[in-house]
Amino acid sequence: MAVKEKTKRNVQRKRKPKILAVINDACTGCGGAPICITECPVDSCMYEVQNPDAKIFNRVEVDHLLCIGCKKCISSGPMDTYLEGCPWDAIDMVPLEEFEKTYGELPY
Ligand code: SF4
Ligand code: SF4
Repeated sequence: MAVKEKTKRNVQRKRKPKILAVINDACTGCGGAPICITECPVDSCMYEVQNPDAKIFNRVEVDHLLCIGCKKCISSGPMDTYLEGCPWDAIDMVPLEEFEKTYGELPY
């Protein structure tokens, strides 16, 4: 039997999430195969950008208009084990209020 592909959401959020994922400087790009992008359920929410500190591998960024704050990128494994999320603790889940103070108000 064929394995059904994971369907990802691809529309902008209607309500602001309570927390948002922010990538910190510990991102290694997972050696060219970012685990977080695989785990994120929202299409195009996480994407690779060039890492000026590491010439070989990219790092990851988050489109905060798409992030739903689901935390699957930090851990979707049982008991928060990071088995399926970021293995480098490179993703901070930031409360909306703190996020908007730092990066400006989300325009929706
Ligand atoms: S919190 Fe959810 S939607 Fe946001 S980047 Fe992580 S996995 Fe994607
Ligand atoms: S899982 Fe973590 S280290 Fe790997 S690409 Fe994503 S944020 Fe970077």
